[in-house]
Amino acid sequence: MSTFKYVTFPVLASALFLASCGDNQTSQPETEAPKPVETDTQTVDETSEVETIDKFTYANYEDVRLTHIDLNLDVNFEEKMLDGVATLDFERINPEVDTLVLDTKDLTINSISLVNGEMTTPVEDYTLGEADPVLGQELRIPLSKETEQVLIDYTTSPTAEGLQWLSPEQTAGKEDPYLFSQAQAINARTMAPLQDTPAVRLTYSATLRVPDGLRPLMSASQGEENENGEYQFDMPQPIPSYLIAIAVGDIEFKAINDHIGVYAEDYILDASAEEFAETPMMEEANEELYGPYRWGRYDLIVLPPSFPFGGMENPRLSFMTPTLIAGDKSLTNVVAHELAHSWSGNLVTNATWRDAWLNEGFTSYVENRVMEKLYGERRAVMEQSLALEDLKRDIAEAERPELTQLKLPADIAHPDEAFSQVAYVKGQYFLIFLEERFGREAFDPFLKSWFNDHAFESVTTETFLDYMDENLRTDYPDAVTDAEIEAWVYEPGLPDTAKVPQSDAFEMVQTQSDAWVAGDISTFELEELAADWSTHEWLHFINGLPDDLAVEQYEDLDKAFSLTGAQNAETAFAWYMLAIKMDYEAAYPDLEGFLLTVGRGKFIYRLYEALKENGKGEWAQRVYAEARPGYHPIAQRRIDDILNEG
Ligand SMILES: [Zn+2]
Repeated sequence: MSTFKYVTFPVLASALFLASCGDNQTSQPETEAPKPVETDTQTVDETSEVETIDKFTYANYEDVRLTHIDLNLDVNFEEKMLDGVATLDFERINPEVDTLVLDTKDLTINSISLVNGEMTTPVEDYTLGEADPVLGQELRIPLSKETEQVLIDYTTSPTAEGLQWLSPEQTAGKEDPYLFSQAQAINARTMAPLQDTPAVRLTYSATLRVPDGLRPLMSASQGEENENGEYQFDMPQPIPSYLIAIAVGDIEFKAINDHIGVYAEDYILDASAEEFAETPMMEEANEELYGPYRWGRYDLIVLPPSFPFGGMENPRLSFMTPTLIAGDKSLTNVVAHELAHSWSGNLVTNATWRDAWLNEGFTSYVENRVMEKLYGERRAVMEQSLALEDLKRDIAEAERPELTQLKLPADIAHPDEAFSQVAYVKGQYFLIFLEERFGREAFDPFLKSWFNDHAFESVTTETFLDYMDENLRTDYPDAVTDAEIEAWVYEPGLPDTAKVPQSDAFEMVQTQSDAWVAGDISTFELEELAADWSTHEWLHFINGLPDDLAVEQYEDLDKAFSLTGAQNAETAFAWYMLAIKMDYEAAYPDLEGFLLTVGRGKFIYRLYEALKENGKGEWAQRVYAEARPGYHPIAQRRIDDILNEG
């Protein structure tokens, strides 16, 4: 999730690359066992609060830990529910443990049985706790010493936050319904009973039954239909629960190379494959920097427009918003981002949401390194610069300073608070700071070993800092000080050691913009100068326009460049934000169309917010009333809050 990623603050959305290669990179550890979370911690500053426990789970994962979940489910579009049986394997960390505590949210538990060898015994005395609006309900299941597996027969709710059920009318094809999931941060528990914490890694398998003509996909090996009309899936590598994902619809496939391809509805399949054609180069660049891609295939699925994020890094199958299909590959850094998660996030995972920058900051850094490698420093620095503007805005708007620390405070109210630009961009700039101090010759191999040494582990901020002490700082003791690291990780705001990106391209745009604003050059002359601008330069131009332009100047710009109704979603969004601020009503009909067709949180949360703040609350309410049924449940919750608060 930068300007180009997903989203943001203060309405925090949680959000959201691979390559060339031969067969060699598909060799992955098929049987790697989940490793326990590292708990040996020590901080740079003793006063910093260290807590390795994830408070957003009921699970007693320090005593007993899931190792595998098998899902055997009917995908029921009529009732809008998943219905079937989850079979759980686990290991006892504490040999005395007599209860398995799981997370559930809006699940109906039909029955539970314990399996011991050939014996299956129904359990009557399980308990489902009271519903908490954030955490859901804890499910306590008594275990006997002999219990080897737990079987849970359950159904999901039609309003499960992690699942969006689209009617045929809400899809492009209009003939078939569509389902897709979004488990991050804590919505896997609305899809299945499990230990819903990134501290626990598990493998999974699934058997799905779907209506005729529809194709199910998961973040796993893509199963073929068997003789019973069922589809089988397998994820043999241990992943955190938030990476379990499902999509079902009238979905087609187009290969990009032998192990990378795109899934999408027919209307956008060819355009998506073209837009993402450079994904193999991205994979190659990633591998050169940080070692082999370990997940086998890498596919992308372009979801319906209500997908609330830019992308979601579900392993082997990144979920992507159609707003990336700009026609000119200008927004593909989001692909680079999701692919980069195959190293940072999916391979090495934050153990708690307080450490989310370990996923997102590392990924934003890797993404930008890959963009630099493929497209040059000019584009990479423009993207850094745009991201920094977003970070500064989020820091300025943060509800409290602690939320701008990389290591978030223990009392965050919801994991979504971890997904502001702080995790993404401040995290990225921290790694840029380290890179500059240690030099790429030292820092690149160090990061590569970090990913390798912690592959398939869940880790905390403190694990990283310790690792850096031992594997980098001892060799270069004068490169950075404890106080500098402390400021980046445990203190609010952007440290003064942050890089100031110098973009010649943006400076040029600024000069031209200033000249136009001052009336020194005409709109016609600006048109000639802007003929070669990239999307990035357009964004810099629009975002930098002063607040006090005359309406005629907006009209001139709009006439010259057709910004209202722009096909590029980023450009259109930037223009609508300005239009709202300036009360430029000519843009409103197209803005309404945008809000009715785009569900990506990065855009719509800020648009609704801006509308409300600029006295357009009533207009926003009217449009929202019409748009709401088409939005994802996550977006509905966020926008309900935006429009109803205060
Ligand atoms: Zn991400």
